[in-house]
Amino acid sequence: MLWNRQRETLPRERLAALQLERLHATLARQLASVAPIAERLRAAGVSSPEDVASLDDLTRLPFTRKTDLREHYPFGLFAVPREQVVRIHASSGTRGKPTVVGYTRNDLEVWSEVMARTLALAGVEPGMVVHNAYGYGLFTGGLGFHMGAERMGCTVVPISGGMTERQVLMLEDLGGQVLCCTPSYALNLAQTLAERGVGRDRLKLRVGMFGAEPWTDAMRDALERQLGIQALNVYGLSEIVGPGVSAECVEERRGAHVQEDHFLVEVIDPQSGQPCAPGVEGELVFTTLTKEALPMLRYRTGDLSSIDLAPCACGRTTARMARIRGRIDDMLIIRGVNLYPSEVERVLLSVGDVAPHYQLVVERPGAMDELTVLCESVSSVDLEDLQQRAELALQAATGLSMLVKVLAPGGVPRSEGKAVRVIDRRGLV
Ligand code: ADP
Ligand code: ZN
Repeated sequence: MLWNRQRETLPRERLAALQLERLHATLARQLASVAPIAERLRAAGVSSPEDVASLDDLTRLPFTRKTDLREHYPFGLFAVPREQVVRIHASSGTRGKPTVVGYTRNDLEVWSEVMARTLALAGVEPGMVVHNAYGYGLFTGGLGFHMGAERMGCTVVPISGGMTERQVLMLEDLGGQVLCCTPSYALNLAQTLAERGVGRDRLKLRVGMFGAEPWTDAMRDALERQLGIQALNVYGLSEIVGPGVSAECVEERRGAHVQEDHFLVEVIDPQSGQPCAPGVEGELVFTTLTKEALPMLRYRTGDLSSIDLAPCACGRTTARMARIRGRIDDMLIIRGVNLYPSEVERVLLSVGDVAPHYQLVVERPGAMDELTVLCESVSSVDLEDLQQRAELALQAATGLSMLVKVLAPGGVPRSEGKAVRVIDRRGLV
């Protein structure tokens, strides 16, 4: 089902015309009401929206970064008087001080709409029971999914994150069909269900809508097997709206459809700032097209992905983003070699017998970096053999030698929201 067939299947040239019109409105808003951005726009030769004649001119416009939000913390980049802001959220603060974002009543309308589209992308239908275990509160995950599911006409169970024992009970008793949470929490929940002997036959689960942190197709396989669901990837960030920026469709599950009538997407080379061609990996940059309270111009997400414009089996014409490899900030440099935690996840899960809980510990006991991968085994296998197999596979795939430690079940810390994948102790000495 397409929630908004007209918008989601616009021919590309009609979409571009709509985007340009909306970009003009966004520029007008910023020029009139957001002094720090207006100043930069004028310096770039844009003193009226019409100075941007086509979407190709976008590359002339200044970027916005997380540091801008921090510098003008908390409300300095808002484009409306604070009284018109009906909701505040904040980023999770995965990297440093959280940034604060705001929504007008209309912004919440748009967010509900894109989240209803997101649920429809995953094959969710009105009347289904949505077990929403994303955290409620300042984090955008909980309320974002909540509003979308209500908009669609689902029965929402606003359980939020944590208190896993109670989640198990509620999931069974209330017959949740759609599980919304981070993939790492889904794994935690799956394990608790297994420990409590709640088999798949006692559950009604069909769909998992996972996001808010990087995860791999190998993790998807593990979650689908353990929970008996179809798992879909949902992407978003608070600075742009929260979840709902893009999501996979059930038909292809190859890349997340961007809600391009509301969010203009670019991929740039993080070093030069120049645009990357479709299919080439770079940093995702978004411009909001309809946001009132906090319009964002060319916001640099720090997330690595690429864009695919090929037509999709689902009929949507929107661009699709590849799975996020990770944040640029998450890239570890170990003895001069670049490594993303998602790469370790992919390799580790391909070894077999490894339970999908893992954490990377980086230390520098002497002159050299040492990387230890903590993980757990699925069953009582020969631990030494497993360790060796994992070490060999990781070295072959990454060119880095690392130490693998297989811990007793429960040894790797469990996540209730976004998992902490890396402990970097190098700066502490
Ligand atoms: P914070 O940046 O403090 O974690 P947010 O809660 O707004 O704040 O999280 C947004 C970020 O979460 C994104 O920029 C991205 O790095 C990550 N993220 C969200 N969804 C996904 C996803 N599906 N895959 C990978 N990373 C994701
Ligand atoms: Zn599709």
